[in-house]
Amino acid sequence: MIPLTKVQLPAEVEPLVLGVLRSGQLAQGELVATLEREFAALHDVAHAIAVNNGTTALIAALEVLDLQPGDEVITSPFTFVATLNAILQAGATARFADIGDDFNVVPDAVSGLVGERTRALLPVDLYGYPCDLDALAGIATAHGLPIVEDAAQAVGAICGSRHVGGFGIGCFSMYATKNLATGEGGMITTDDDALADRLRVLRNQGMRQRYQYEMAGNNYRLTDLAAAVGLPQLRELPATNERRQANAAKLSANLRGVDGLVVPPDPSPGRTHVFHQYTVRITDDAPVSRDEFVERVVGRGVGCGVYYPRAVFDYDCYRDHQRVVVDDVPAAHRAAREVASLPVHQFLTDGELDEISSVVTAVLRG
Ligand SMILES: *Cc1c(COP(=O)(O)O)cnc(C)c1O
Repeated sequence: MIPLTKVQLPAEVEPLVLGVLRSGQLAQGELVATLEREFAALHDVAHAIAVNNGTTALIAALEVLDLQPGDEVITSPFTFVATLNAILQAGATARFADIGDDFNVVPDAVSGLVGERTRALLPVDLYGYPCDLDALAGIATAHGLPIVEDAAQAVGAICGSRHVGGFGIGCFSMYATKNLATGEGGMITTDDDALADRLRVLRNQGMRQRYQYEMAGNNYRLTDLAAAVGLPQLRELPATNERRQANAAKLSANLRGVDGLVVPPDPSPGRTHVFHQYTVRITDDAPVSRDEFVERVVGRGVGCGVYYPRAVFDYDCYRDHQRVVVDDVPAAHRAAREVASLPVHQFLTDGELDEISSVVTAVLRG
């Protein structure tokens, strides 16, 4: 079986973790601080604040905006459920702008939803491909809105003049299967000194100094054990992302032109795709349905999964939710019917990439 994801940690992780265990300082400490410093440097931002997962990164980013009941946050309808859960957890109302061929929100659709109640834009860099963040930043500036970027899948990606995470408040996940994986973990980035300060205080029970509380906070801290798992991976991240890009290029060269399949769109100039997922569309003219495609590819020993099978709000618990506005998003519903992700991770061999391509091609020949 060629798995969709493979977790294989750099050799440097083990001595670093052992060092933490022997130090007796298991909670947030020196290694978290080092991880934050190097994460910020890699993304060319002033501040990175480590938190315990990517969902709390989003929640904390929204919490420091002081959202009030009735405030609307515009996001993508085609994303992992954490994006929506964070908006609801922060007490705001979710609105959904439809997506384009690249699976990310279309800036014009976002600006069409901006109204009096809009308080933030929450674009998602799906599969590791940055949104059109320059256009979104233009919309945000024109309306005086902050951008909270869900870059959970796009660690290390570049979008024009900046890295992801540098367009407002960036939220990253270090969940076990992400390109940078600490098991559980998250990171928040910003160039804004005051916001970074508030986020650090919020993360630690709203406490600046021992028992000096400045706000109603929470415990969003990361452990030094997790930082020890992440730090060597962070140092290898540019190489990891390059391997994923090379693997994606090879898959696309093999699969482009196969009837019934659309390869991921080429990145726009200046934008890098870090391929958290390599996702194709299985269209209506394919000889098999998308679900049959997935089943047959898996049956032939190649990992294949659907991210995501429905628009994020397309479940009873959200459709009936008072703070979820079900906007008209036909492109998101179509993507949910068509997408299938194939292995692209950095440990694939050339032989495995050829095997993936030939299995996919054979399945689509019927
Ligand atoms: C992984 C992910 C998250 C949440 O991250 P966790 O660390 O699992 O909480 C949020 N948004 C997107 C798009 C993700 O892929």
